[in-house]
Amino acid sequence: PADVLVVGGGLAALRTVAALRDHSYDGPVGLLGAEGLAPYDRPPLSKHLLDRTSPTWLADDLGHDLDALADEVHLARPARGLRLRPGGGATVLTDDGEVTSSCVVLATGAHAVSVPGWRGATLHTAADADALRAALGGGTRRLVVVGAGWIGAEVAGVTAAAGHDVVVVEARAAPLATALGERVGALTAPWYAAAGVELRTSTPVAAVDSTGVDLADGTHLSADAVLVAVGARPATGWLAGVVPLRAGAVPVDESYRVLGTSGPLPGLLAVGDVAVRRSARHGWVPGGHWDEALHGPDVLVRRLLGVAVDEPEAVPYVFSTQLGHDLTVFGLPARQDGVTVLGDPGVTGWTALWTRGDTVTGALVVDRPRDVGAARRLFARGDLPRVTLPGSELPGSELP
Ligand code: FAD
Repeated sequence: PADVLVVGGGLAALRTVAALRDHSYDGPVGLLGAEGLAPYDRPPLSKHLLDRTSPTWLADDLGHDLDALADEVHLARPARGLRLRPGGGATVLTDDGEVTSSCVVLATGAHAVSVPGWRGATLHTAADADALRAALGGGTRRLVVVGAGWIGAEVAGVTAAAGHDVVVVEARAAPLATALGERVGALTAPWYAAAGVELRTSTPVAAVDSTGVDLADGTHLSADAVLVAVGARPATGWLAGVVPLRAGAVPVDESYRVLGTSGPLPGLLAVGDVAVRRSARHGWVPGGHWDEALHGPDVLVRRLLGVAVDEPEAVPYVFSTQLGHDLTVFGLPARQDGVTVLGDPGVTGWTALWTRGDTVTGALVVDRPRDVGAARRLFARGDLPRVTLPGSELPGSELP
């Protein structure tokens, strides 16, 4: 039996266990994972697909020894279902029996979206990275990447740099349109040709088979390997019918307590990619951000143990290295926000600021390391920053 049972074997799970010990919790802690590997860092899987290949190395990057921190660790015992207990906490169902705990932390993260019937690879795990590397082995290969989101762009860049012949096919009118909107995403489109990658936007895919990709207009793109990088979904299938979901994720309050239909469910918490967090400052903050899985667990544990949380709420933060460029996003821009670009995207580094009235809701910094610190400081205050902007407003369609 564990006083605290963490379900999941990724960054959020590891950081939850580490934070419990950091804050002097000395009761039993258990962990159930699914991959059979110690928690490891995922961002290098795409950015260093071809040059960092060992899961041990990726795990060492996280700097914690799970076995030394937790009492019972089962890295290949996935949770299959959950039963809430009337007095609080829950029973987790596995193929090897049930585990009951008065405090269960859901940290099952996300999985890559795969389209039924499509034969392409996806990239979320170290095993996925191994498979993609194997498909690209033995000389120059033709890779078609479906989806110009964060992961598609990163993989296209590193594989083209290694000499492969790479085509990226994107259904929307611009890369990164889902994350940044089409106006800002379009500013990254010239990076593809400059990196030797062919980018086809507004190009929906009809099918993926072992010979390549069929486009909706009937064109066939032959490929030695196809990566389907069309997004990630919270891994909540095992929670069906037990916890009410919000956009497929587990809704939590600012203390990471899972929200049932009439308030927090006692003894049930969730953090990382599996959760969507209610924030007074930013509205509902979805997972999908490494930084949230890194820092969220400390706040969760402090609130759980009654340790003061002194710092203001962390601002949503995403980073990416793609096609020779460094991107940092702060905040959570929304569909209706205006956007202003500072600097000239065609020439040097630049920054995009999203605003609602005179309030800044998001910032994207590209290749301007000094602006990263400034943007972070802008958001570090207790309320959303207000500014008057000297840059030029982008015309065109709004965020999705
Ligand atoms: P995950 O990392 O998904 O870990 C969840 C773990 O739980 C997995 O090991 C899974 O196997 C396990 N699990 C799932 N279901 C069960 C179950 N039923 N029972 C037990 N265990 C289960 N974010 C950024 O901000 N910047 C980046 O540059 C960036 N790059 C990325 C590149 C790639 C290739 C990928 C895949 C992600 C990237 N991310 C990036 C996202 C970032 O890695 C995630 O936000 C982070 O990993 C979330 O951590 P997590 O622990 O919540 O979930």
